Amino acid sequence: MFDVIIIGGGPAGISAGIYLIRGGLSVLVLAKNKGHLDNTEITIDNYYGTPNIKGNELVNSGISQYQQLGGKINFEEVIFLKSHTNFEIITKTSVYLAKTLILATGIKNKKSKLPNYEHLIGHGISKCATCDGFFFKGLDVSIVGNNDYMEHEKAVLEKLAKSVTVFTNNVSYDKKANHEQIISFSQSDDKIKITTANSSYLYDGVFIADSEPSANEFANILGISMENNQIIVDDNCQTNINRIYAIGDVTGEPKQIIKAVYQGMKAALHIIKNKN
Ligand SMILES: Cc1cc2nc3c(=O)[nH]c(=O)nc-3n(C[C@H](O)[C@H](O)[C@H](O)COP(=O)(O)OP(=O)(O)OC[C@H]3O[C@@H](n4cnc5c(N)ncnc54)[C@H](O)[C@@H]3O)c2cc1C
Repeated sequence: MFDVIIIGGGPAGISAGIYLIRGGLSVLVLAKNKGHLDNTEITIDNYYGTPNIKGNELVNSGISQYQQLGGKINFEEVIFLKSHTNFEIITKTSVYLAKTLILATGIKNKKSKLPNYEHLIGHGISKCATCDGFFFKGLDVSIVGNNDYMEHEKAVLEKLAKSVTVFTNNVSYDKKANHEQIISFSQSDDKIKITTANSSYLYDGVFIADSEPSANEFANILGISMENNQIIVDDNCQTNINRIYAIGDVTGEPKQIIKAVYQGMKAALHIIKNKN
């Protein structure tokens, strides 16, 4: 059990980690990678004290500083979260427990390759099997995706739905699936129609899990309030859920390093102050 688990190893997550470690708490950072800035092509020229620094240099320097203080970082993708008395943070290979959770997952850098479906969210299309799977109990559903997150969502649906068909949208996947490219999602009576180049298919519900879970998916799972795709936080970067904080780009503009590290500090100091 960790005092705090931080999801995200960019400037926001690592800044929080540095303050928390120095405040005497046990901390684990879980990160899929080192974030947007881990790129030799990016030059940062507006961050205090580091003119003309490469993005990857700044990020690596922050991570080393955190590690030198004793901070632990595991490069694993978080695919699911559960909230009981404490938090369960689930990756492909492990389940971690924490008393407090910080979301520092940044914004998604991959645009979905799916045609527009947003207008049908809540009208037969869902992005959260745990939240909405129940409404499709005993019905035929499909799920779009091909990654570990999709596998997790599929397993949730398989316990509820009559049938679950995987659509990979033209991406390879080594299990049974429909690989056709999806052209559109539409409503047909009270079903969702998936149209591909060759055919069309009707389902009672469609679940979208085509990218790694990030702020939106985690917020859905945990009931965190969002507005315009941003997590709403108070002055201490706490969300509407007790002991869940959000920092950095996930909280919206300005999407800048200085704001990410500031919010990391704010969340950490609040957690340290409120530690039992
Ligand atoms: C091309 C470019 C140039 C930029 N230039 C500047 C600049 O000059 N100055 C400036 O101030 N800002 C700049 N920015 C913005 C800056 O990069 C961001 O504001 C900053 O990186 C935000 O930090 P963050 O920690 O919130 O998110 P990120 O740095 O994006 O880090 C997100 C972290 O979350 C992790 N993550 C996400 N999902 C999961 C998951 N499911 N499981 C585990 N880990 C997960 C990622 O792996 C990553 O470690 C630039 C951005 C880009 C793209």
